[in-house]
Amino acid sequence: SLELDHVSRVYDGRPVVRDLSLRLEPGQVTCLLGPSGCGKSTTLRMAAGVERQDSGRVLSEGRVLSDDAIHLPPERREIGLMFQDFALFPHLTVADNIGFGLRALSGRERARRIGDLLDRIGLPGFADSFPHQLSGGEQQRVALARALAPQPRILLMDEPFSGLDNRLRDEIRDETLSLLKEEGTTVLLVTHEPDEAMRMADQICLMRQGRIVQSGAPYNVYNTPVDRDAAAFFSDIN
Ligand code: ATP
Ligand code: MG
Repeated sequence: SLELDHVSRVYDGRPVVRDLSLRLEPGQVTCLLGPSGCGKSTTLRMAAGVERQDSGRVLSEGRVLSDDAIHLPPERREIGLMFQDFALFPHLTVADNIGFGLRALSGRERARRIGDLLDRIGLPGFADSFPHQLSGGEQQRVALARALAPQPRILLMDEPFSGLDNRLRDEIRDETLSLLKEEGTTVLLVTHEPDEAMRMADQICLMRQGRIVQSGAPYNVYNTPVDRDAAAFFSDIN
């Protein structure tokens, strides 16, 4: 699966990610959890290849995607990406948004995959709608379908549920999780919200100041915090 091997990143002389190693388990959701500014998005961007680490390596199935000599761009990594501003293409219909990454398929296969995903995100009648005709939650579901359409084995998600109200967010988290499990997708999910990580993760990597300070199953990390700061970080969950 995808692996970060001792990666570091410095911005303007300031280390932001420090000698960080992380391995995604196949079919599992790994949450990179930590406070604002600790380096989560930078880590995810290096995993995606959008940004290059200053040192260390990124590997997939043991194959080097990026090191000092090589750097494969994101589109050659067979990785799906979903960022906070998941912006759909405004001039394309819902069906064409979902089908965007499916140009290699025949018209019929493409239509079948789009139809299947529309059913599974609960928006079967929306194929010909445009993004501005959808609510925020509906747009978020379409963005998820678009990310999953090409069946990436690995999906990297950066705070994908922000901007939704609380009730809707819980609902969409649950739906997303079941869709990801059905597809068997390996996921790295970045969040600063402990309750989101507790709800979605198979594995939590708790991050602070550019480092992973603890990792494990959600209830182990929650019940056995590595130090007072980790305990405090989880304390506002109820
Ligand atoms: P948040 O939860 O707020 O999204 P984060 O954990 O994702 O935070 P990063 O976006 O990885 O944090 O940023 C880590 C640090 O690096 C921050 O202090 C940020 O200001 C800095 N940083 C991020 N990108 C750049 C950049 N392109 N140039 C300079 N500094 C940057
Ligand atoms: Mg971020």
